[in-house]
Amino acid sequence: MIPYSRQWIDKDDIQEVVKVLKSSFITQGPKVREFEEVLARYCGAKYSVVFSSGTAALHAAYYSAGIHEGDEVITSPLTFAATTNMLVAVGAIPVFSDIDLETGNLNPREVEKKITKKTKAIVGVDYAGLPVDVAILKKIAKRHKLVFIEDSAHALGASYGKKKIGALADMTMFSFHPVKSITTGEGGTIVTNNRKYYEKLLSFRSHGIIKDKKKLSKKNNPSWYHEMQDMGFNYRITDIQATLGVSQMKKLDFFIEKRKAIASRYQRELGGLKNFIIPKTFSGKTSSWHLFALRLIPQKKYLRDFCFIELQKAGIGVQVHYLPVYLHPYYEALGYKKGLCPNAELFSESEISIPIFPALPPRNQALVIKTIKNIDRGL
Ligand SMILES: *Cc1c(COP(=O)(O)O)cnc(C)c1O
Repeated sequence: MIPYSRQWIDKDDIQEVVKVLKSSFITQGPKVREFEEVLARYCGAKYSVVFSSGTAALHAAYYSAGIHEGDEVITSPLTFAATTNMLVAVGAIPVFSDIDLETGNLNPREVEKKITKKTKAIVGVDYAGLPVDVAILKKIAKRHKLVFIEDSAHALGASYGKKKIGALADMTMFSFHPVKSITTGEGGTIVTNNRKYYEKLLSFRSHGIIKDKKKLSKKNNPSWYHEMQDMGFNYRITDIQATLGVSQMKKLDFFIEKRKAIASRYQRELGGLKNFIIPKTFSGKTSSWHLFALRLIPQKKYLRDFCFIELQKAGIGVQVHYLPVYLHPYYEALGYKKGLCPNAELFSESEISIPIFPALPPRNQALVIKTIKNIDRGL
């Protein structure tokens, strides 16, 4: 079975990991700082803090943004559950706002309608690697004094205007899960330009414990003294993973070029189908093409599961991204109901993610194209 996505690990990646295994630092050592510096530089941001997962990074971002019990946070339902699970983890109320069908991303006009006195933040999700409308969402956030966070788990390497995604929101999250732009096995980061957030993120990653003598609240302490000043977890990444991250970052632009080339081929060769809608390219933003989200036309959405199985029968790994988060039983039990975001529901009901990843061989791309054309003809 051709997977819908997978990592790309070279000999040099492996050699770097072996070097760390032979060194004296296995967890937080010099490679963690180096990885953070490489990430911040790539995104054109001041700071990066790396975590044990993208989910941990989101938890840290929400906590550092001061999102508390009872705060409302507006976000997209067309995302992985972690985006809102971590909001629930800090006691906040996820407010789902509908998407734009063409992009799969939050529709800013809908976002503005959802703002109340309790709203604390907006979390944009760069669906499939296509950046959200950063300029508009930032303006809305500023007007209403909200924090603007991007869940850019899909979008490392994507651009908005001339800028890389990462330094545009108050905080931006990237994931290094094996299906994402680069991998560290598990891992994630928050990138920010804000020093206050940076310090809170560092503290949250490691139990809220402070060792820096200048920052201790008590004076005249013995040399061993350190103190816990704030809530925190063990969300540290290891040097073993960070060195893999540094090595993978050298290939990021190459990975994105490969993904773009596959997306262009799919757009070219699947463009004229009767029953499918193909994701578009937009001016002013460049996708990192984490996913290639094919959709059946609305009149044929009832055939999605049939097409899904036909693709699997041909040996093609497919996925659905995503069930709207609020339709998971946990969220239904919190009171969210079907009908809340009609576009997200229609998108979800008609979507199939087909294989796209840097190592996907041209002959497999051809098989995917041929199979979809055959299915289209028979519908
Ligand atoms: C992958 C992903 C996450 C979570 O990242 P992990 O590193 O797997 O914890 C969060 N949000 C979105 C949209 C994702 O795709």
